[in-house]
Amino acid sequence: MQQYREIKSRHQDAILFFRMGDFYEMFYEDAEVASRTLGLTLTSRNNGGASEVPLAGVPVKAAGEYLRRLVQHGFRVSICEQTEDPRLAKGIVKREVVETITPGAAYSDALLDGTRNNYLCALSRSGDAIGFAAADLSTGELRLTEASMFDAESVVSRLAPREVIVSRGVSDLDQILRSPAGEEGPLLTERDGWEFDPALGRDLLRQRFQVSSLEAFGIEEKDSVIIGAAGALLRYIDELQPAGTPHLTRPKIERTAGVMPLDEMTRRNLELVESMRGADTSGTLLSVLDKTLTPMGARMLRQWLLAPLVDRARIEARLDAVDALGDTLIRSALREALDGVRDIERLGGKAATGRASPRELGALGDSMGRLPAVHAALERARSAPGGSDAVLLSGHASSWDSCGDLCGEIRSLLVERPPVAIGDEPSIREGVDSALDEWRALRDGGKDGIARIQSEERKRTGISSLKVGYNKVFGYFIEVSNSNSHLVPADYQRRQTLTGAERYVTPSLKEYEERVLTAAESVEDRERELFENLRARVGAQISRLQSVAQAIAELDVLSSLAEVASSEGYVKPELTDGFDLEITAGRHPVVERMMPREKFIPNDLALTRDARVMILTGPNMAGKSTILRQVGLIVLMAQIGSFVPATRARIGVVDRLFTRVGASDNLVRGQSTFMVEMSETSAILHTATGRSLVLLDEIGRGTSTYDGISIAWSVSEHLHDQVGCKTIFATHYHELTQLADSLVAVRNYNVQVREIGDQVLFLHRLEPGGADRSYGIEVGRLAGLPPAVLTRAKELLRVLEAEQIVPRSAHASSPPLAVRAGGDQLALFGPLAHPVVDKLGKMDPNTMTPLQALDVLARLVDEVKSGRES
Ligand code: ATP
Repeated sequence: MQQYREIKSRHQDAILFFRMGDFYEMFYEDAEVASRTLGLTLTSRNNGGASEVPLAGVPVKAAGEYLRRLVQHGFRVSICEQTEDPRLAKGIVKREVVETITPGAAYSDALLDGTRNNYLCALSRSGDAIGFAAADLSTGELRLTEASMFDAESVVSRLAPREVIVSRGVSDLDQILRSPAGEEGPLLTERDGWEFDPALGRDLLRQRFQVSSLEAFGIEEKDSVIIGAAGALLRYIDELQPAGTPHLTRPKIERTAGVMPLDEMTRRNLELVESMRGADTSGTLLSVLDKTLTPMGARMLRQWLLAPLVDRARIEARLDAVDALGDTLIRSALREALDGVRDIERLGGKAATGRASPRELGALGDSMGRLPAVHAALERARSAPGGSDAVLLSGHASSWDSCGDLCGEIRSLLVERPPVAIGDEPSIREGVDSALDEWRALRDGGKDGIARIQSEERKRTGISSLKVGYNKVFGYFIEVSNSNSHLVPADYQRRQTLTGAERYVTPSLKEYEERVLTAAESVEDRERELFENLRARVGAQISRLQSVAQAIAELDVLSSLAEVASSEGYVKPELTDGFDLEITAGRHPVVERMMPREKFIPNDLALTRDARVMILTGPNMAGKSTILRQVGLIVLMAQIGSFVPATRARIGVVDRLFTRVGASDNLVRGQSTFMVEMSETSAILHTATGRSLVLLDEIGRGTSTYDGISIAWSVSEHLHDQVGCKTIFATHYHELTQLADSLVAVRNYNVQVREIGDQVLFLHRLEPGGADRSYGIEVGRLAGLPPAVLTRAKELLRVLEAEQIVPRSAHASSPPLAVRAGGDQLALFGPLAHPVVDKLGKMDPNTMTPLQALDVLARLVDEVKSGRES
């Protein structure tokens, strides 16, 4: 217990798995927490002291599953092993924590999702700047970046870290770490402030990567907030993994200028990698585009989707590669070669950290065996007409590393289907190591040897029924039936009495047994030694494996994009450095797949400098949201390097994309929906630039009609006048169509419906001009509202329209909605400005008798009635 307490004191914030023979034991609070979480029996143990110590344990063999459950519940688990052979130990066996597993620091497949990175991310703050250092220990990737406080949330949502390290007591970071309602956020790990010190970080990075200056990584003096985060991250990793992390790559610094920040709402509203309903990927853009064949490709596609590019040349390089892979023969050759390549990146990480099993190393070898075929497909693409234009493909082709040496080594040493662990099944081939072969011959010859001994002993004793056998307790024995016991020679020593027989051993049988058992042990030891050497040699080449994995990932993504482009009929978008966005026959990539192909109505759309704000009206269910999102998705797809669902698209590269959906679409967050909506709108107005694309769906709906219209109106004005960006505003406030009268670059569009009798036919066709009705009641009927409710609603609508509380048509409404601020009219909405209201305002009921009050009331009613009649 003294040893336990000493070790536990150094791992206070983790559950300590304390190895005792075949069990990991937990004590005190750890035992209580684990028994609650894992449903283990809580026992207690008296260790000579006065009190009982609570205790719970799990068998080492089954520990993986318990570990997974604890870590998934957000616990850290430190594994404390016996670090010397208990048979040789003098006194108490030495023990040490060999690793700490946390949600962000996990290697086991049970804790990882093949299609996603598992980032552990350190955040450091200095003023408005946030430094990020993120490591995926399973792949060895180390990424650094910096963002402003405003954009930090978009980096967090892109990385989706499982664990975040922050300086203790820095509370204002929770704003960027908050996760949407219902989603589990990352585990927050607080560390001392000094660990984020840039000077310490700089030293750590230099030491770790053996460089004299960080410029080698493109890290500059001014990047101190990033360096601070990287320092804290490395220190934490070293603590969790005392055995080392040799596979951690040199840091890759990402300048945010090259990447379009996507805030969480935009990512969710466009349903890029998660659907609005939950965390699953069905119905997302990712689900449409993901035809990747390898886990590395799946992870990279997700990364690309969350980090569209803003540099035209880089985007075009991707598009050219997708174009070149449009050739079916080349694409299928490449995809055939990629199919079956396993997760080289994670397997390599396991090899480098000594975790790979024989089976995993075998899988790595098999995967490398496919690399020459990938290379051949690339060469074929390069020599195809126009193939050399696809610089990404030809770049990979010329720097290709098929790792033939590593593959050869693995394959020549390991058997074809190696087992999960060194042991009973052979892992190493015959004929590669003479010592191993000799031990094996002895061990197996040993088995034949039994038959030999048996026949020799039968001859010597004349007992023809004599048998040589083996059991775990007594080892080898000679069995003689009682009827023959008088023939047993003197050198037989009796070991066991059965009902009809006796079992004996002889000195020569014991000696033989010794030799066979040692041979079996020696086989295992030698196999382990050869395997571990092989694993270390492969692990030492981790940086090669990582480059190969990156190349495979990129080719997989490009070929997946090409595959989707071909099956879904997408076109290559034309990118420009100009402003205009023109889409011909655009479609929504996800919605179109939910209906028979010809059912989806494509639409043309253009946003140009002098027609840059589109007010989109139209009935409920007409397809406004679909068009709005389809434009966002097409631009985003183009900027990740994908072809797009349209017959033609000309896209001025945008620097940012914002998508906001008002409260009416019921995106519930932790706070008041309207407050969230407004703070998001305000963030857009502060950050959007002339090169941004802003998509607003029903903004201003979460409050009273007049407040809402006024906000929507002035937001549109601001975007038009001050920001000058491309904007689509979908709304049911038909009043907004009047904006086009006063703002030069505003255009009205509506999504058409046709009325046939009492029915509404949705045409889903975009047309110039505003709409004047919402057909909400008709949609209510489609949704099955009771007839009585519908009739009453129609009645009320008629009354309200007649009273002009709700203007039927924006243009026909009177008094008109006011024009611009500073203009000659103020925003006045009919009923509030009635003369009766003025009169009421001037009266004081306290000074009136009841009779006077009744008289005034009668006069006012008369006035209202006569006003209406006239
Ligand atoms: P609301 O104002 O009620 O939010 P909306 O105008 O935003 O409605 P959407 O949600 O975009 O309407 O579309 C409603 C449905 O119409 C979609 O779910 C889809 O099934 C269908 N739809 C939309 N656009 C098209 C299209 N271009 N072709 C075929 N069907 C479409």
